[in-house]
Amino acid sequence: MRDIRLEYVRLVHDTIDCLESGFRTKGRVSYPRIAGDPHEDKASRIREISSAVVRCSRCGLSQGRLHAVPGEGNVEADVIFIGEGPGSSEDRQGKPFVGRAGQLLTKMLAAIDLRREEVFITNVVKCRPPQNRTPLPEEIAHCFPYLERQIEIIDPLVICCLGGPAANTVLGSSVAVSRLRGTLHQYRPDSGRPGGLCIPVIVTYHPAAVLRFPEKYRRPVWNDLKLLRDYYRDIKTVR
Ligand code: SF4
Repeated sequence: MRDIRLEYVRLVHDTIDCLESGFRTKGRVSYPRIAGDPHEDKASRIREISSAVVRCSRCGLSQGRLHAVPGEGNVEADVIFIGEGPGSSEDRQGKPFVGRAGQLLTKMLAAIDLRREEVFITNVVKCRPPQNRTPLPEEIAHCFPYLERQIEIIDPLVICCLGGPAANTVLGSSVAVSRLRGTLHQYRPDSGRPGGLCIPVIVTYHPAAVLRFPEKYRRPVWNDLKLLRDYYRDIKTVR
């Protein structure tokens, strides 16, 4: 059986190496792939992405939306939470995770001493899929560049993927959450380009799944949240 603890320690050391080598230094790296003036502040650049999202018609999801939902939160966040796509409440309000699942997410954050205002919350697709179906691969492909830019600009210490579509999009995998959760992954660990990213990723179930099947998902989600909390504390301590 995989030794999760050893893997955790290895990843902490990898990340520390990463930070110490200057390969990535939070807040001081400019990423050449980001459109726009690199000297603009993060908030302006995130606003630019949000403006592009609300005008976007790259995929068919633009046809049925009331509001696009670019994401919101602290542009200096250490943690980004990524879900699958907006639901009906989010579509009505243009804000992420504001329905019942969002209320549960807020409680989950509080359980690990995080406030919504501290983190950044977004989704893989920014417009609501009809009947809340899973986003199609082509919809995700069209929308992913927005998420990539949000991650690059915010440059978090850790990403938390909520549910399979978010996890598999960020990790470029096609694996069940049950096999991805409980350990740490890396966002683009093999990019190898100067200024490339090496951001740890934690995967857990979507809060909507916890609401639907609390007995099945509550405990594993709590364990994943504790992993996130402990990892985040360790990284903050050594930085
Ligand atoms: S889901 Fe993404 S790619 Fe599709 S229309 Fe909305 S913002 Fe554009």
